[in-house]
Amino acid sequence: MEIKKGIAVSPGICIAKSLIIDSEDYRIPRRSIEPTQRMIEIQRVKNAFKDATRELTRLEAGQEASEQRTIKDIFAVHLRFLRDRSLQKKIANLVRSELVTAEYAVSTTLREIAAHFTKVKDPYISERAADIYDIERRLLRQLLGRKREDVEHLTEEIAVVARELSPTQTAGFNKRFVKGIATDAGGRTSHTAIVARSLGIPAVVALEDFTESISGGDTVIIDGNRGIAIVDPDEQTIRQYEKYSFEFTELEHRLDAIREKPAVTRDDVKITLLGNIEFPEEAELVLQKGGEGIGLYRTEFLYLNNPSEPTEQDHYKAYAETISVFKHRPVIIRTMDLGADKYTQSKRLAPEPNPFLGLRSIRFCLQNLTMFKRQLHAILRASVLGEVEIMFPLITNVQELMHAKLILRDVMDDLDEEDIAFNKNVQMGIMIETPSAALTASTLARDVDFFSIGTNDLTQYTLAVDRGNEWVSTLYSSVDPAVLRLIRTVIQDAHKAQIELHICGEMASEPEYIMLLLGMGVRTLSLAPPMIPEIKQIIRSVTIEDCNSVARKILGMNSERQVSNFLRDATRKILPEVF
Ligand code: PEP
Ligand code: MG
Repeated sequence: MEIKKGIAVSPGICIAKSLIIDSEDYRIPRRSIEPTQRMIEIQRVKNAFKDATRELTRLEAGQEASEQRTIKDIFAVHLRFLRDRSLQKKIANLVRSELVTAEYAVSTTLREIAAHFTKVKDPYISERAADIYDIERRLLRQLLGRKREDVEHLTEEIAVVARELSPTQTAGFNKRFVKGIATDAGGRTSHTAIVARSLGIPAVVALEDFTESISGGDTVIIDGNRGIAIVDPDEQTIRQYEKYSFEFTELEHRLDAIREKPAVTRDDVKITLLGNIEFPEEAELVLQKGGEGIGLYRTEFLYLNNPSEPTEQDHYKAYAETISVFKHRPVIIRTMDLGADKYTQSKRLAPEPNPFLGLRSIRFCLQNLTMFKRQLHAILRASVLGEVEIMFPLITNVQELMHAKLILRDVMDDLDEEDIAFNKNVQMGIMIETPSAALTASTLARDVDFFSIGTNDLTQYTLAVDRGNEWVSTLYSSVDPAVLRLIRTVIQDAHKAQIELHICGEMASEPEYIMLLLGMGVRTLSLAPPMIPEIKQIIRSVTIEDCNSVARKILGMNSERQVSNFLRDATRKILPEVF
């Protein structure tokens, strides 16, 4: 039995057999096999070589018609490597002598050869290292491709274990069979964590080298409440976790019972609870959990699980489906937040050196106007179906806001010309996710109907801490005094300008932060649907007076640790079951 501590990102407990998904983009961890598995792994190596050779031969033949001599030459070099018997033999020997997986043997052997090539002075030879890496990726795709297919055609309950998962991979999981997620990488607000929470799959991230201590098929416990993953648990531990799991399910049922009750504090202050969704199907879950509308629809997921670019009708259908669940309640559609960790990197010829500081979000939309206008056209068409509001992400300055509004105006004119009905008074707001937006909130407030504070990005950009990087995850905190000062500024500026203010970052899903947010003047929270009952229970257990006093004390504190400890103690008194 081995216990690892990570970051709890999606509550619940999973006890299941593990399915390991590696990625060809990362170093494949050394994983041991039983001596009886040797021949199976060696056969997998052989099959991978055979399939890769077949694939390359086909590609090479496809080049015949064109004049692409250089590409043909490259393929020929790769094929020579793949047909080299001694290379296969070397890999098979490694599997046999070291008892390691086919993936590990392939990756290590080819990287060793590549490293050797790099050291050679002759540039012709040293440049061949890139070819070797390419061959490594091709072989790994053959080996791992089958595992990817396994995830798509599951027939039994499993726990997914991976070094890192992309939001797209996670979004594709069938929650009937994927009962838990454990990853080496990631942070509390990484998009993979957000998707896991939305799907209600218990998840722990930032387990560092967890994938090295586990083999496919091992029993694993994933404790999404305490941030723990256990490989090969003993009987006593399994029994203890079965008990935790039972208690957690009981708590969930008890909390679900408050669904019909209003989200009001003990001194009768009404708080609006909205849901964050990535897919239209989730709107129903928001309703079931007692949410009063959609505060953040992350529409970029329409791109993430589509092999081709969504048409205007695809957009419209997704929005209409969401609105049909909340006809008379707000549905805030955020325009595509593509870029950074989502979508565009894999489509680029050369990846951006700093994608989170690059062509992301509204910046990407303003440089891809056809795509942007297509989405706005669909949103406006859908605006007559309900209470649609439009929200622009990652606005960093007034010019950007003006540019986005101008494009919106253009699309409205197009609709007028086409004689298509839309809501001419559609509410329009922006996300405040950067220090620059927070510091100029008083100016930005003049041109919008509402602000929604995206604390996930606001925290990462204020503290200069990558929200998905496990190595700096201890530095990432939305209650760091610097972040809190910016949040306070935005709230005050929104109140002065008399515009609506929402919080839609993960901070609104955190039980410990609710009293502070209410005390700072927040009255609308948009959060992960499964967390709505718990957050409502906290709201119903406090008075605004208590919350004001908590906020006053916190805003006078100088260290994040002091703030966190204080908030944990205060919340524990209200909802001890969560801890
Ligand atoms: C945020 O940044 O807080 C936010 C809600 O947007 P996302 O998590 O999609 O970046
Ligand atoms: Mg964001």
